[in-house]
Amino acid sequence: MYEIFNKENQCFDMNSVDRDYREKSVSYMSQYKSEIEKGKLQYAELELAKERAAAIKFKVLNELDKYLIEFETNFVSRGGKVIWARDAEEAIREILNIAERKQAKLIVKSKNNITEEINLNEQLIKAGLSVQETTAGEFIYQESKEASDHFVNPLIGKSREEITSFFNQKFGLPLDASSSDLTLYIRNYLRDKFSKADIGITGANFLVSNVGGVALTENEGNALMTVSMPRTHIVIAGIEKVIPSLKDLDLFWPLLATHGTGQKITAYNSVVLGPRQEGEIDGPDDMYVILLDNGRTKLLEKVEQRRALSCIHCGACLNVCPVYKTIGGLAYQSTYSGPIGSVVTPHLKGLDGYNSMSYASSLCGSCTEICPVKINLHELLLFNRNDAVVNHHSGYRERFLMLGWKTIMGNRKYLDFLSPKNKNWLVKKIFNKKWGQLRELPIIKEKSFKQLWEERENPPK
Ligand code: SF4
Repeated sequence: MYEIFNKENQCFDMNSVDRDYREKSVSYMSQYKSEIEKGKLQYAELELAKERAAAIKFKVLNELDKYLIEFETNFVSRGGKVIWARDAEEAIREILNIAERKQAKLIVKSKNNITEEINLNEQLIKAGLSVQETTAGEFIYQESKEASDHFVNPLIGKSREEITSFFNQKFGLPLDASSSDLTLYIRNYLRDKFSKADIGITGANFLVSNVGGVALTENEGNALMTVSMPRTHIVIAGIEKVIPSLKDLDLFWPLLATHGTGQKITAYNSVVLGPRQEGEIDGPDDMYVILLDNGRTKLLEKVEQRRALSCIHCGACLNVCPVYKTIGGLAYQSTYSGPIGSVVTPHLKGLDGYNSMSYASSLCGSCTEICPVKINLHELLLFNRNDAVVNHHSGYRERFLMLGWKTIMGNRKYLDFLSPKNKNWLVKKIFNKKWGQLRELPIIKEKSFKQLWEERENPPK
């Protein structure tokens, strides 16, 4: 167990760091790197595409109320129902009410982070409902009762051997089962669940306001099954998911696919325009969209950090982040990990408990560079840190240390007061434990820069 130095009573849970994570994720990350480079080739001008996407999202965030109402009007006009939820509690209450009205027993879910954000599975199970995750990665994590640590590619933390051994122990499949065998097994298992489920719950990649549509993009087809087989479909979406027009998907879908997995476009892309209409053969009888705030308007109030709400959840910033790559997602103790998680979580969940996330960054800027909607993530982390200090969310020890540091660094006399040997002793005494046993403290040199400069300018005659 070791700590990331931040403030008292706040540290990432380094007990949850999988020491083998780095090794397991290395092959995924290098594969990701080469795939994304291939995906980018589809763009004549990637920068221009990113700038356009950023501009659209910026415009939406500045007129969010207008676009949300437009989405609601259009969605309701086709028989859909919109529920506005201020927080997790309201969203869960509404879902439980729907489940009760429908006398539901089994709910199938297509993976979406927002249900994890509101801890939905736990609440549904508490209410006596059965819940089945249907994305392969999430299925494995649910059945093995573990938490996934990457919100786009949950299986990067698991080796092939771990997966086959899980299927062997849980379902009796042979240890040398191929990927196709495993996929086929999951498919057959889930077909039965889909056909029996009363309610399907999905997220939304985008809410398209000019048609009142829910845009879903996926590689496995399970979201489509979740939408079309149960008689009731519930969508939970953050209020920031809106885009103005259907034609904007031309821009966002390829950007999301390329930055998420390196694909030109994801395998299945659907726009759901409400419940089944007269004459249609597929689709649910009832469809609800829950528009969830849960701290997003608080983030929207922040003039700088509101840009983080442009995120399209491609996961690219996680894949290039040296901190994430080393410690994995579980250490963040939050649904949203990596650079974007570090920016938004302190606002969604409160600076008091999650302020430390803003410090878990080397500020190298790789996240900002790769982001398809040009969110200046590493700068936003600095704004978060500033907020923490200005609003007194940093601990008294940190404030005291910083004051002492500032006083000493601002006065040459204080700086030269101790010998280098004593300085090194003092730095070790104060910082060693907090700095972390796996990191090395810098050694204060025998001669200061001032002394070296003076000697250079006035060499002994
Ligand atoms: S912040 Fe950018 S790079 Fe990170 S997940 Fe969101 S869209 Fe992708």
